[in-house]
Amino acid sequence: MRTYQNNTLKLFNSLHGKKEDFVPLHKGFVGMYVCGPTVYNKVHLGNCRTFLSFDVINRYFRHLKYKVRYVRNITDAGHLLDNDEDKISRQSVLEKLEPMEVVQKYTLDFHKVLELFNLIPPDIEPTATGHIVEQIELIKELVHKELAYEVNGSVYFDVNKYNSEGGNYGELSGRKIEDMIANTRDLDGQGEKKNPQDFALWKKASPEHIMRWPSPWGNGFPGWHLECTAMSTKYLGKQFDIHGGGMDLKFPHHECEIAQARGTYGEDPVKYWMHANMLTLNGQKMSKSTGNTILPEELLTGNNSFFEKAFHPIVVRFFFLQAHYRSILDLSDEAIIAAEKGFFRLTSAIEKLPSVQASETSSFDVQEWINQCYDALNDDFNTPVLIALFFDVAKLINNLELKNETLTHADLEELKTAVHAFFYDILGLELLSDTFRDSNKLDNAMKVLIDLRNKARLEKDWALSDEIRDRLSESGIILKDGKEGTTYDIE
Ligand code: AMP
Ligand code: ZN
Repeated sequence: MRTYQNNTLKLFNSLHGKKEDFVPLHKGFVGMYVCGPTVYNKVHLGNCRTFLSFDVINRYFRHLKYKVRYVRNITDAGHLLDNDEDKISRQSVLEKLEPMEVVQKYTLDFHKVLELFNLIPPDIEPTATGHIVEQIELIKELVHKELAYEVNGSVYFDVNKYNSEGGNYGELSGRKIEDMIANTRDLDGQGEKKNPQDFALWKKASPEHIMRWPSPWGNGFPGWHLECTAMSTKYLGKQFDIHGGGMDLKFPHHECEIAQARGTYGEDPVKYWMHANMLTLNGQKMSKSTGNTILPEELLTGNNSFFEKAFHPIVVRFFFLQAHYRSILDLSDEAIIAAEKGFFRLTSAIEKLPSVQASETSSFDVQEWINQCYDALNDDFNTPVLIALFFDVAKLINNLELKNETLTHADLEELKTAVHAFFYDILGLELLSDTFRDSNKLDNAMKVLIDLRNKARLEKDWALSDEIRDRLSESGIILKDGKEGTTYDIE
């Protein structure tokens, strides 16, 4: 197996719009910061996909024996709604909870969900409210350098001044200042700002704003973009290797982070910017306002109006990894059922690996297969290609069992080590227990029976539809007809 000493990895740097060789700032070390969730409600599956993409990246670096420091924050203040209300404050009013109770509730939910999907926790998980002092220090420095100005208890970043001193606001997102001006909202302190593209570093708190802290500019709260600059540079240094997040954060969030850090420290903070693409649901953007959204627990329990059955979190993980992290992935019944089938085909082969017998000669080049697995990951973490290679190995294992192919003892051991490294350690997948697989088969069989009963009812064949229900009931399976179709309970 390889280490970073004998491996070359290319990754797509959003800052330059191309794949580049990964050369860390300090040999053998990787510093990676990923924007975490705003903990004002339950994470949706789209959020999970982004965090999972960076989980594989983190896992691969660790496999290559880099010493990784992975920082992923919790946004527990400063992220505003369109009407300038703090998302967490708003939720605390709706739920009649303290803002910090809201934060605790949804942080626990977030951790629980990511554990189900088998994500490795970050090494540091800092919170915005835990770093108010650091954020105030950054603002003081920017004011001192005249890159920020105070108006009526709020402080704004001066984009024109920054650009006139060599900054390039818009470099990451490729946006021009004129477009940004056209797209700014009326709210967000427009009346106070020198220019519409300026953004808030500190906002004066109105009397009803609950989440507030004292500062040199009076009582207020930090702007959302500032927390990530404060926390990333505190734990990873003024310059660090990788900054990640979803595509939707490129502008304005990440653009502002670059400006804030460059303005303060005079250098570009991040060597490689990485952006993960979105998850859509049945071809449409996931969005709470249109109802086109699904929570992890709804997919995992089958309790939703989109999917006919429940899915195991590892199957969902596998489904996510079958797409490249920079491609849009659409979640649909058909796609996830196909992924589940593939997953079981793959795992039933992998399960046979320990009992395969060695031969005198090898008919399959294991080393070449391992090289191809590395090539896939070294090509900007191409997990779909890696998974395709696993289907080749599933075929090989089945053929080894049938004695249509052979491997020497040494090759067989090499294959077992590689399967362990790529399947468990890097992709973070697992074999599922027999109990789960049996209950999945039961789910599938029940779906067949429910479909047949529905067909009988459509044809007004009441005798048959009743017989199906009654005989199931005799064997302890109760059918329940509801608005969203028929489900079953086991007595
Ligand atoms: P938020 O809590 O809204 O700040 O989002 C947390 C992370 O999830 C960010 O990196 C977002 O870019 C990402 N994200 C939000 N919606 C989606 C989606 N539909 N698909 C993938 N990632 C998403
Ligand atoms: Zn961030």
